[in-house]
Amino acid sequence: MKINDYVYLVASGQMGFDWTHPSDCNVYLLESQGELALIDTGTGYSVNDICENIEKYGFSISQLKKIFLTHIHADHAGGAALLKEKTKAEVYVIESAFETLKNGDEAAIDLTIAKRFGYYPDDYQFNPCLADHLLKEGDQLCLGDFQLKVFETPGHSRFDLSFEIKSSESPKLLFSGDTVFYNGKISMLNTHDFHMQKLADSIAKLSDVEADVLLPGHYQPALKNGANHVQKAHATFQSMGIPSNIVG
Ligand SMILES: [Zn+2]
Repeated sequence: MKINDYVYLVASGQMGFDWTHPSDCNVYLLESQGELALIDTGTGYSVNDICENIEKYGFSISQLKKIFLTHIHADHAGGAALLKEKTKAEVYVIESAFETLKNGDEAAIDLTIAKRFGYYPDDYQFNPCLADHLLKEGDQLCLGDFQLKVFETPGHSRFDLSFEIKSSESPKLLFSGDTVFYNGKISMLNTHDFHMQKLADSIAKLSDVEADVLLPGHYQPALKNGANHVQKAHATFQSMGIPSNIVG
């Protein structure tokens, strides 16, 4: 699914467009001047679908150079190792998640409990991945004509990043992972590292981005007025409320 002139959807599960494996997050492909990047990877079950979809859009998987992970929950990072192996793209993740991702530590990302409650098949295994680049707040990178800026946005988990991406010609894109969703919703989980106040602070930070396009980790993107969706969540927190939850 082509989202705009720069972004394509290449995988999406039941909390989205019910297209690839049911547990997959939204996986976005970003293209600029022939250089491709992925935002997140899905569970790993859909690696072949992702590669096929990239080619259906008229690209070659050899153009894929960078894989950015918004966080390391299995629905977002489970495919990183296989995609890296298959495409030779380099994996970017928040610095503090490097060891956990390298060790494939299922308990540390609450996958053990998520499997028990049916969010993933019983026999699902998280593939450990050696990240190539470590990211932190304020880092800036180039991707073709785009400039990418990194925001640390903990709260949904302790390892969350969001990415602002812009060029002189494109609308401003905000890849918000599981930090904030369409219509100002959040993803609140009874996990050991969910933290409401940190999430509120992260959303306050993203509310200053003035995004045109909001591209969240689940459900639909907002193709314009992206900032309104972030600001709705921020306003709810500011009035001592809790935004609606996408889970359950
Ligand atoms: Zn998550």
